[in-house]
Amino acid sequence: MTLAIPFNRPCFTGKEMHYIGEAVYRHGHISGDGYFTKQCHRLLEESLGVKKALLTTSCTHALEMAAILLDIQPGDEVICPDFTFVSTINAFVLRGALPVFIDVRADTLNLNEHALEAAITPRTKAILIVHYGGVGAEMDTIMAIANRHRIPVIEDNAHGLWAKYKGQYLGTFGAMATQSFHETKNFQCGEGGALLINDPQYVERAEIIREKGTNRSRFFRGQVDKYTWVDIGSSYLPSDVLAAFLYAQLEERGSIQAKRQRIWDTYYAQLSEWADAHDVQIPTVPGYCEQAYHVFYMVLPNLPTRQNLIAHLKSQGILSVFHYLPLHLSDMGQGYGGKAGDCPVTERLGECLVRLPFYNDLSDDDQARVIAGIQSFEGWV
Ligand SMILES: *Cc1c(COP(=O)(O)O)cnc(C)c1O
Repeated sequence: MTLAIPFNRPCFTGKEMHYIGEAVYRHGHISGDGYFTKQCHRLLEESLGVKKALLTTSCTHALEMAAILLDIQPGDEVICPDFTFVSTINAFVLRGALPVFIDVRADTLNLNEHALEAAITPRTKAILIVHYGGVGAEMDTIMAIANRHRIPVIEDNAHGLWAKYKGQYLGTFGAMATQSFHETKNFQCGEGGALLINDPQYVERAEIIREKGTNRSRFFRGQVDKYTWVDIGSSYLPSDVLAAFLYAQLEERGSIQAKRQRIWDTYYAQLSEWADAHDVQIPTVPGYCEQAYHVFYMVLPNLPTRQNLIAHLKSQGILSVFHYLPLHLSDMGQGYGGKAGDCPVTERLGECLVRLPFYNDLSDDDQARVIAGIQSFEGWV
């Protein structure tokens, strides 16, 4: 019997359990901000050249911290690509923001920078950017517009750790950026994330917000002689057990990315001709983007064909999935006035995009089965 090929599977690099043991027995500290959290902070700061990295319990929570740091108030407008995960905007809506959804480009599926300026009003308080699949959005144009209007940019970089746009790391353009270490991302610890801070004015308050609104971080550094409640905040720091797991993955970033590149390149090489022949879109990566190899997607000609392909692969034990449903047409999005036709590219992607199995340990044989499964598809509509 051939085994099913999942869409995603968590992968070990080898040292995860060893580091967790060290956190417990050698360092004797498994709550937040222990030895491995500090190691992760240093690795992220030094490798990316960011001012401050703070591990969080998720990317969602890092986005919530960003919304608090920008002092988002009820009625403020926040611009966001329509084609993204709910958390990108929900973290801001949680503070009362009104979402303003912009459609994405049909080639990279990133925010359409040509539609950005027209969406800005005197109430715009933030511009959220997603680097879909770890392929950089058009940051030259986006940053020029944002700077001209003095509006902070937050990069939801859940897909793009260590990818580059024109030689610069994603996550280092905006005032802040957020990372995810969820089980489905390139580097994982189950549930986890990070806030990267590029604009130094946010650093001190970020530490406070992350520590329940207290100045405990300053206390531990000996900068104040007692710690107390000084601001709003929550508990956004992960256990050092998770940081130990994560550190084993971050340390192996070179080998993880090499495996993912190989999988991505194989899909691309073996499906290009087939895609051309059937009018199927596969990813576009501009020459000036060094991507993160986070997803391999295909855009089928229509919804029934996409559904037939997913069913065809499933009948062979291969799990493929679709995402994202257009935010402006969700229950929440419609509550903010979203209507069919507002973001046609995203509406088409919601119906026609499929993601292929992609995880670090996907074997050559299993990947060959996925590719053969696609090439044997006949259910065109
Ligand atoms: C996965 C993901 C998130 C959420 O990450 P969590 O760590 O699960 O909160 C946010 N934004 C994007 C673009 C994502 O892909």
